[in-house]
Amino acid sequence: MRKNIVAGNWKMNKTLQEGVTLAKDLNEALKGKTLNCDVIIGTPFIHLASVAGVVDKNKIGVAAQNCADKVSGAYTGEVSAAMVASTGATYVILGHSERRAYYHETPEILKEKVRLALDNGLTPIFCVGEVLEERESGNHFEVVKGQIRASLFDLSSEDFAKIVLAYEPVWAIGTGKTATADQAQEMHAFIRKTLVEKYGKEIADNTSILYGGSANASNAKELFSNPDVDGGLIGGASLGVEKFLPIIEAF
Ligand code: PGA
Repeated sequence: MRKNIVAGNWKMNKTLQEGVTLAKDLNEALKGKTLNCDVIIGTPFIHLASVAGVVDKNKIGVAAQNCADKVSGAYTGEVSAAMVASTGATYVILGHSERRAYYHETPEILKEKVRLALDNGLTPIFCVGEVLEERESGNHFEVVKGQIRASLFDLSSEDFAKIVLAYEPVWAIGTGKTATADQAQEMHAFIRKTLVEKYGKEIADNTSILYGGSANASNAKELFSNPDVDGGLIGGASLGVEKFLPIIEAF
């Protein structure tokens, strides 16, 4: 069954102490609550083990924001999927537009990262999305389809069934300019149709497709009410319980 998911992406924010405090506070805030979605927090690498140690894993999943495209060895500064998994994290955000743009992550590199994540039992939250010029020139559907095809479509059905997708139009990330609920639904339905063509209706219907890009407490309900929007990947509004909790409760 397709899951509703609200995932936070802390990006490069919070010291270790601040991050652990935020995780504990969120854990506390969710205690005794019946939730209609899975909750995930995507922390910097250095937080993973500590955060995984303070949250109730039945309520809050922990995600890395990246992993290496190599198994192990002489790759100074890198963190492998196996290392991520050893912290207690069970998800990894891959293909975020910031990593594609600033760290030159190509579709081929991302394909490797997805492979290694799956090999180590991590669930990839795989991000796709067009830049403004691509939307304005009407190429956004092809761009998103190309991103999915290039990094994911060599996966077997069994492996693809483990993927969570996040549609994040680059022009909406951190800009305060959210996609409208209609724009989100239109793209999510297109993505699902693309998945039907490749993997069939059952897998497509069971794939969670999250929306990301300036999602917040005031627009979450409308975004999540769309049939093909199964939750959100939340950046800025995941950095405080008071902002993140209402998004979780929008389901
Ligand atoms: P934002 O970031 O919510 O701050 O726009 C979303 C993301 O980049 O995942």
